[in-house]
Amino acid sequence: MFGGSFRVARLFGIDIEVHPSWLLIIAFLSYSLSEGLFPARYEGWSTATYWVVGTASAFLLFVTVLLHELAHALVAKRRGLPVPRITLFIFGGVSHLARQPASAGEEFQIAAAGPATSLVIAAITGLAGLLLGPLDEQLEAILFYLAAVNVLLGVFNMLPGFPLDGGRVLRSIAWKRSGSFRKATRTAAGVGELFGYALMTIGFFLLLGGLLLDGLWLLFIGWFLLGAARSESANLQLEGVLRRLTARDLMRTDFPTVVPGLPLASVVDDYMVGHGERAVVVANGGAVLGILTVTDVRRVPRSDWPFTPAQAVMTPRERVITVTADTPAVEILTLLGEKALNQVPVLEDGRMVGLVTRREILERLQLAESLGANTAPADEERPASPTTLS
Ligand SMILES: [Zn+2]
Repeated sequence: MFGGSFRVARLFGIDIEVHPSWLLIIAFLSYSLSEGLFPARYEGWSTATYWVVGTASAFLLFVTVLLHELAHALVAKRRGLPVPRITLFIFGGVSHLARQPASAGEEFQIAAAGPATSLVIAAITGLAGLLLGPLDEQLEAILFYLAAVNVLLGVFNMLPGFPLDGGRVLRSIAWKRSGSFRKATRTAAGVGELFGYALMTIGFFLLLGGLLLDGLWLLFIGWFLLGAARSESANLQLEGVLRRLTARDLMRTDFPTVVPGLPLASVVDDYMVGHGERAVVVANGGAVLGILTVTDVRRVPRSDWPFTPAQAVMTPRERVITVTADTPAVEILTLLGEKALNQVPVLEDGRMVGLVTRREILERLQLAESLGANTAPADEERPASPTTLS
């Protein structure tokens, strides 16, 4: 969903990234504010002034969206729940949590912090607009715009669909009442799906009524919410399959091994392209020296491959992230996601005994799904898979 995002900042230990679709919405907002809303509300500015105020408003809007996300993220972090990154994209922002909240109360606090922040921002900017507006019309335009949009953000996010904050608040309440994370997720995801369909239906009728842009927008948001509600249920299933597995069940023990002096050209021909391996272990006799991945190879120009030994570009052993044979599969999947890895070596008593790949985990999941395995976790089990909220 958020592939192709690029990092623009790091705040409080959280990577702030921007998805390419964000550039579209910034351009569209700047245009529609500078050519539409502001000229309609305020007369007599120069074209340049409309554009400066319009563009500034569009960017400041996303500063307030970021504050909303940071509110979620900081509450989560204070409760010991890691938040590796926040992504800004066409529909606003998303905070990526390393795992699901551990209790209904925790989920409620994390989810409610965002809309509460938006409403506080709306109050502050609205008040500032009233006080400073008479002194400066442009400043008033920006402040009132931010106030209005943050009211919308606060209210819209409280609508009860995943991954909107309202969906999470709903789940936390259902969770508290039933004591079952699983039942609560099913309830909240069901409401979220209905809600997605409802928005798409309204969008469809707006389209028929000739409101092209509003109709399309609602159709897209409805479709996005529908997908999010479904993936929340799917995550629960995934969690059920992975919960029973550890690194020992998933690892391959026939991982390919090369000698340190083998040139990259041979590694690529004989292992990567030749046998579809995304990583090889570099070892001297029985001693593992490091791991060489497709990503490592890509850093070297192709013309240097025949002369570059594997050892020169591998990730050395002491920097390789590893797991033990008893590490649960959910933790491995979280780790792969957080560190953007495709595989992780398995160590036992300091010796490498296997390699767990992302591909192997996904194949197991597909297999379980195709067999229709009863994969839902038991009620009392605590959720641990990574998740997102907007
Ligand atoms: Zn939110």
